[in-house]
This record gives sequence, structure tokens and C-alpha cells, in this order.
Amino acid sequence: MKLILLGPPGAGKGTQARRIMDAHGIPQLSTGEMLRAAVDEGTEMGKMAEKIMDRGELVSDDIIVGMISERIDQPDCANGFILDGFPRSEAQAEALDSMLAERGLALDCVIEMQVDDEALVERLTGRFTCANCGAGYHDKFQQPKVEGVCDVCGGTEFTRRADDNEETLRSRLTVYHGQTAPLLPYYQGHGVLRSVDGMADIDEVTRQIEAVVNSCGEGGGND
Ligand code: ADP
Ligand code: ADP
Ligand code: ZN
Repeated sequence: MKLILLGPPGAGKGTQARRIMDAHGIPQLSTGEMLRAAVDEGTEMGKMAEKIMDRGELVSDDIIVGMISERIDQPDCANGFILDGFPRSEAQAEALDSMLAERGLALDCVIEMQVDDEALVERLTGRFTCANCGAGYHDKFQQPKVEGVCDVCGGTEFTRRADDNEETLRSRLTVYHGQTAPLLPYYQGHGVLRSVDGMADIDEVTRQIEAVVNSCGEGGGND
């Protein structure tokens, strides 16, 4: 199963990707997480990416496409993967098409998560993540069961992203509408686009995605 989760920043891609990963045993490939790891390691690429991410702009296609191309060749991707935050431009989508074609692979479906822009500020300004395992939370919509303790790993340290502020979000949204949203008609044209209501609560979105995933798998042969 090879899926793309497509939607604006804060749509719930990461939250749902983790759930699909747990349910189907295929990895989540998040270009944002890969870039943040490079920033934390302080590599040259990380230093360059950090400035671009702070402005809410897109890191160059060459870097991103190279990262994904290496990643999908890893053994854990043999049964498929969930792309979260990639592709983000038509150039990246075309690069992905050729990358998959070279390997004799094809996408099963692209799931659009529809969320109103007005909801995204609250989604992102309330977002935090377990520093140990990366589980995602929200001040209002997804609090840990025990305050200050991660449900998944019991960790007690949490982080907030530098780019989750209202000002950077404005440019991330402009970039989304200008560069990423054109992928919706692109994938519609390829006959693989499906949509879910990203405004619904987290469990309901998961149910809708499961329904899509099951129907995409039908007739698709191997999982
Ligand atoms: P993305 O990966 O698309 O940027 P996230 O999955 O990180 O988005 O979600 C952004 C924030 O919104 C997180 O704090 C998450 O807990 C919360 N969230 C995710 N899905 C929903 C939802 N359906 N309703 C309310 N809050 C949500
Ligand atoms: P979100 O889904 O919340 O917007 P991500 O974690 O996917 O956040 O991305 C954070 C930042 O990393 C983006 O604003 C951008 O600067 C950079 N980035 C992530 N993925 C890509 C990509 N595919 N192409 C270019 N830049 C990217
Ligand atoms: Zn944790």
C-alpha cells in the first residue's frame, strides 16, 4: 500500500499517518520530520533548511526528492509507505512518479484531508509533541490522558515547533495554496484522489481514512 496524505499544515496528516502505520505496519515518511532531524544534528543541510523552515517556505526539490528516493529503498518500505508532507509541489509530484515508475511501483491513493483555513491557526498554535517518541498532542483537542505524561511511552518532556506560530503559518498557508493545492487536480487527473473530512474529530477522520484505504486496496492486488 502506497499512500499520500495531502492537506494544509495542521490538517492532521501526522496524527493519521501514525495511526495508519500502527494499523497496517507500513512506515510514515515525513519530510518535515526528516528535515527537523537534520536541523537537530546540525548538518550543513540542516542549517540551510532551518532558515527556510523558519520562513515557512519550501526547501529545494533536489534535497527533498533525494531524501525520499533514498528512504523508499530501505527494507521497511518493501510493503509500502505513507507519504506525509511530500510531495508539496508539482515538480516533486513528477519526481515521485518517475521514482516509482523506475522501481515498477505505483501509488494506491492520495487522500486529501479537507480542513478550513480558519481552523488551522488553533490546530498549530496548540500542537505539541512527545520529545521521546514523537507522539502528537494538542492543548485542547488531544490532551494526554494523564497531564504531562505521554500516553504512548510515559515520557514527560514535550516540544513545540518553532514554525508553529501565527506569522509563519500565514506564509506556510500561502505556499500551500500556491504550490501544493495544484496537486489536487493533478492527482484527480491520475484517478487516485480521494477526500476525507479533516474537520471531523480525530477518530472519525481515522474511520473515513480506513474506509478509503480498504477500498483502494480492493482489486489493487498486493497490500
Ligand atoms: P499535520 O501533520 O497535517 O501538520 P498534525 O497531525 O500534527 O497535522 O495535527 C495538528 C494538530 O491538530 C495536532 O496538535 C493534533 O493533535 C491536532 N489534530 C489533528 N487532527 C485533528 C482533528 N481531526 N481535530 C482536532 N485536532 C486535530
Ligand atoms: P506541516 O505539515 O505542519 O506544514 P511539515 O513538518 O510537513 O509541516 O513541514 C515543515 C516544514 O518543512 C515546511 O514548512 C517546509 O519548510 C519544510 N518541508 C517539509 N516537507 C517539505 C517538502 N516536501 N518540500 C519542501 N519543503 C518541505
Ligand atoms: Zn512519548
